[in-house]
Order: sequence, then structure tokens, then C-alpha cells
Amino acid sequence: MIPYIFDIKRSSTVDGPGVRTAVFFKGCNLDCKWCHNPESRSPIPELALMTEKCIGCGVCKEICPSPDSCSLCGECVDNCPAEARKLYGRKYTVDELYEIISTDIDFYRATGGGVTFSGGECMLYPDFLAEIAEKCASGGISVAIDTAGNLPWNCFEKVLPYTSCFLYDIKALDPELHRIGTGADNHLILENLENLIETGKRLIIRTPVIPDYNDGDELQKIKQYCTARGLEHELLPYHAIGESKKAALKAAK
Ligand code: SF4
Ligand code: SF4
Repeated sequence: MIPYIFDIKRSSTVDGPGVRTAVFFKGCNLDCKWCHNPESRSPIPELALMTEKCIGCGVCKEICPSPDSCSLCGECVDNCPAEARKLYGRKYTVDELYEIISTDIDFYRATGGGVTFSGGECMLYPDFLAEIAEKCASGGISVAIDTAGNLPWNCFEKVLPYTSCFLYDIKALDPELHRIGTGADNHLILENLENLIETGKRLIIRTPVIPDYNDGDELQKIKQYCTARGLEHELLPYHAIGESKKAALKAAK
């Protein structure tokens, strides 16, 4: 299955080691209450309207070929004079993606960077991911995968040969707390993590620090878990940007 990509960020310094291109896949199998990227949740394209940018010119209504049921044609996005509309989700072939990713190969080499596949949950598309990861690795581009890990182990087996680093989320160790925050148990996530440790691949554990959820005892437990296993651990600050994006998606419906 070819995934929809909702964003490609070049020159990122927050998605793994060095300078990186981060490719964000649409679709996620968790339901985190604090989600920073609500545009990543659905696996299909979505239209957003930033009402604060809209100047009320009416162009979008005049040109819309399908006012009763949006066909996601993108006409209103391309013609909005205020750039108040955005279409999230576009398909790329492996070759198209590689062309974009490889543009910055000199920067990757100079900084120890590479490409990071993220989401959403990019591991929901293990065959496509393995194909693009293999192409990048063969081209000398270091591959990192940013995952929440809530997938069968055979998905990891497909990408392991081409991946040098995993950015791996631990949001909570307590299974009930994890279920409350994300809608899913963390049994599989922790089991996969133990398997990944065995592979010897570089692992960077990342924890979004959510006020009144995991910022107390739970965070200390996560830190102890990482220290006991000698794992690199990064804390990600909570921010409310997800709320405005959620509002923009709702406004376009
Ligand atoms: S969304 Fe864009 S095209 Fe539509 S009314 Fe607002 S500014 Fe005009
Ligand atoms: S994307 Fe939807 S709302 Fe915008 S012009 Fe096309 S059909 Fe109309």
C-alpha cells in the first residue's frame, strides 16, 4: 500500500542525529489525547481551513467544482489568495521521495544526519517503508525511523536491515495509564523495544512530557527504565499547536 505523506521537512535538527529530512506519513493506530499532529491521524487526505487567515473573498466557493461533497481536488487551496487552505496528504512513488531526500545528501554526510521517516505511524506501511529505506541506505543515506512501536514485530523485521537508528516513543510504562492517554495497551510496544535492544541498533527513546499525565512519578520510572538499559532518552515538550490544527481541520469540514 502506498501511504499518503502529509509533510516533508528539510534541514530538520529535531528528528534525530545531525541535519535530516523528515518525511511524515499519514495514518496512526494510537489516539493520544495530546496529539501534536492531528493532521496525521487519518490515513486519507484532509482539507484544512485556517480561519484566522481567511479574508472572506469567496474565491473558494466560486471555483469549487463539488460544493456538496468535497472531492479533495485542491482547487481552492491553489487559488486561495490568503493561503488560508491546506490539503494534507499526497502520494509519492519511492523514486519521487528519494529524489527529494537525496537533494541534501552533502548536509547529511557533513553532520552525521540522514532521513527520518515519521508520522503518524510510518510503520503502518512496512513494505513501502522498507523499499524507500533500502533505496536510501544503498545511496549512502542514513535512515532513522520514528515510531510508537505498537505494531507486530514482523513490521520491524522488514525495515531493520536498512535502518541505523530508531526514535522510539515511551509515553507511559504503566499499562493502564498508557491506555488512558493513547487508547492502547503498551504490552506490544515494550516487547518490541526489548527486541530492538537485542539488535544493537541505535535507539533514542523519546517521551512527550504531558502535564498532569506523565510528568511526575511516571517520568521518573521511564528515566530509570532507560538508565537501567543504557538507552539514550530525550524529553519532548508539550505544546498546544495540535489544538489550532484540529480547529483548522474541523473548519474545512
Ligand atoms: S478561504 Fe481563501 S479563497 Fe476562501 S474565502 Fe477565505 S481567503 Fe478567500
Ligand atoms: S478541495 Fe474540496 S472544497 Fe476545495 S475546491 Fe476541491 S472540492 Fe471544493
